[in-house]
Amino acid sequence: MIILVINSGSSSLKFQLLNMDNESVMAQGQVEKIGLPSGIFTIKAEGLKNKTELEIPNHEVAVELVLNGLLETKEAGLKSLDDIDAIGHRIVQGGDTFSKACLVDDAVRAKIEEYGAMAPLHNPAHLKGIDACSKVMPGKPQVVVFDTAFHQTMPAMAYTYGLPKEYAEKHKIRRYGAHGTSHRYVSGRVAELMGKPVEELKIITCHLGNGSSITAVKNGKVLDTSMGFTPHEGMLMGTRCGDIDATAVLYLMKHEGFTPERMDQMLNKESGLMGVSGVSSDFREIDDAIAAGNEQAKLARDIFIYRVKKYIGSYVAAMNGVDAIVFTAGIGENGPDVREEICADMDFLGIKIDAEKNNVRGKEVNISAEGSSVQVWVVPTNEELAIAQDTVAAAFGNN
Ligand code: ADP
Repeated sequence: MIILVINSGSSSLKFQLLNMDNESVMAQGQVEKIGLPSGIFTIKAEGLKNKTELEIPNHEVAVELVLNGLLETKEAGLKSLDDIDAIGHRIVQGGDTFSKACLVDDAVRAKIEEYGAMAPLHNPAHLKGIDACSKVMPGKPQVVVFDTAFHQTMPAMAYTYGLPKEYAEKHKIRRYGAHGTSHRYVSGRVAELMGKPVEELKIITCHLGNGSSITAVKNGKVLDTSMGFTPHEGMLMGTRCGDIDATAVLYLMKHEGFTPERMDQMLNKESGLMGVSGVSSDFREIDDAIAAGNEQAKLARDIFIYRVKKYIGSYVAAMNGVDAIVFTAGIGENGPDVREEICADMDFLGIKIDAEKNNVRGKEVNISAEGSSVQVWVVPTNEELAIAQDTVAAAFGNN
């Protein structure tokens, strides 16, 4: 069975073609700068990488480009478009409607459109990808896989904010979380690696990338997660401020005369590692600046690490213990120093890592020290594979 996974953004479209018989990647790539005068199409397959610059006026052209590219790239091993069994789309916001992946129909499409109000940068762009596929490959089953779905098991005490009920309900303001596909994948995978049913484990998954979130997974279900109504809450991120007293935002708006749009820009695009350090949103560049003696960069890094520690501690308390902590995504998979600092001085919780085992990047490794009662793991995330698995299940049964 062959599945095409699409992650459609406002000006980009990432894709991966997977052979689900052995869960291998046949080809992958992206279309960038859609709608701009000069677009870029990149495709990779078995040792081959092709990059083409051309005008890509809209998403329909982008999807055609991807399909033609897949057919023309012999290394991809796709003989005909008929061999693609279904398409899986990543969707950022599924509100409280979708707790699992499902086939796209008019009603599903309308809901994704409605939730675009909560994810204006993402949901409308996802719909462009879906509509383009409907035009270019009419009749092909399309499945939508929501970043919010895994978090739908959270209890009301974890997802409800302390706002007046009428306004919270009217505007559907609650914690939805994000990165759910990644948290589900790595929590399931670590249970497999530990040789135990996920239903019997208490796991804390740390997805630390440009966007970061932490999730408490108790017995296979999400108890709590750090991202909230939008992917802004929680960690200090590349350019996102994360946790902040809401009245500080009002104070700034009042005293600086900021519009909601200006405030949104500051909170989501100018804050976080970037805002505090004044140097960069990228962790590697923060480390370079620290090496050059930049104290604000050091503060930004300290805040990042402290906040991860704080969330881990609170989730251990919320779950009455933890069996495994998992690090994933760009920083989680590739930052031994960051992992070491997060896990330092947590031996009172039974968390100890082994410096040698921790010297690893992008591999599935148990980095716990001997005698650590909590297992600490690095598990590279694989959202595309999880989306493809969900697509098979939703389109062809077993769902
Ligand atoms: P996104 O949220 O955009 O998917 P990623 O998961 O790719 O982000 O993570 C990007 C972050 O990971 C950046 O801050 C980058 O500096 C960091 N990162 C990537 N590779 C490394 C590395 N080898 N060492 C340390 N940090 C890394």
